[in-house]
Amino acid sequence: MDCIFCKIVAGEIPASLMGETEHSIAFKDISPRQPVHILVVPKNHHTNVADLAFNDPDALVDLVQLGSKLAAEHSKGSFRLSFNTGTEAGQTVFHAHGHITSTTPKN
Ligand code: AMP
Ligand code: ZN
Repeated sequence: MDCIFCKIVAGEIPASLMGETEHSIAFKDISPRQPVHILVVPKNHHTNVADLAFNDPDALVDLVQLGSKLAAEHSKGSFRLSFNTGTEAGQTVFHAHGHITSTTPKN
């Protein structure tokens, strides 16, 4: 499968890693749209967040916990966690991922 986020998980292409758990990794979005823009990604391939929720809910909880922890570390506390789901909603990478964005970085 030719999936860019699977390749990042496997270490085959570089990313600016921000954190990691048993089930998830986090890295900086390559094209940030807010002062804080981090992607939180399950290590196993799922097409979108709905697929992840139905097939591996523990991994979804883990992803939200990692994202929240990173948001607390890198923002002043207010952040968005969003999941584009489907082409018309703006999804361009079909490996589930949450966008952690914040307009108020910590420093
Ligand atoms: P979405 O449009 O919700 O599917 O989000 C995909 C996100 O992945 C976009 O915000 C891209 O900027 C980001 N992205 C694509 N390729 C990479 C990469 N190699 N490293 C980090 N972020 C990436
Ligand atoms: Zn994948």
